[in-house]
Amino acid sequence: MANNEANLAGFAEIWKIDNIENAVFLSINKGVGGAIIIGNQLYNGSNGRAGEFGHMTILKNGLTCSCGKKGCLEAYCSTKVLTEPNFSDTDEFFTAMKMGNQYCIEKWKIYLDYLATGINNIHTIFDSDVIIGGEIDQYLEQSSDILYQKLAALDSFNKPSRYLYFSRYGDKASAVGAALLFVNTFLSD
Ligand SMILES: [Zn+2]
Repeated sequence: MANNEANLAGFAEIWKIDNIENAVFLSINKGVGGAIIIGNQLYNGSNGRAGEFGHMTILKNGLTCSCGKKGCLEAYCSTKVLTEPNFSDTDEFFTAMKMGNQYCIEKWKIYLDYLATGINNIHTIFDSDVIIGGEIDQYLEQSSDILYQKLAALDSFNKPSRYLYFSRYGDKASAVGAALLFVNTFLSD
């Protein structure tokens, strides 16, 4: 069974949380992906492409995505959106932002808007916890209050609950997931 990194990372994250059987993992690096876990099992879809949230359309005729289509979440929430063309990596971007760089502050605000839209769409479909991981995780957690506010405003059911969580394993999640998946297969044989 082929498992992409986001799937493995998602599996690691869900394993770590007690009493949660269903969750969706959103992984944000240069690429945006994810994993869907239902009943403690990875849901792969008919073609193994379940959870490819990066290619969910969030803006009709929007920016061109790496997949060639327009307006995908990845075109708005990849870490490349923050770093290109002015910064060599995310650390450099967030350091500049902390020092008051207005360009970075504005860019981050817009970034959070699109990200909240994506997360709200995912939550509307799955009605489960959403766990964010990948390279963005460590920086995003510092803006969690703003993100929670945006999500509450977007919620259609007038009863916003806390469903967004941040990764526990950070960038090691996929390695942990691969190990857990092996153990899980072994246990269920
Ligand atoms: Zn795309």
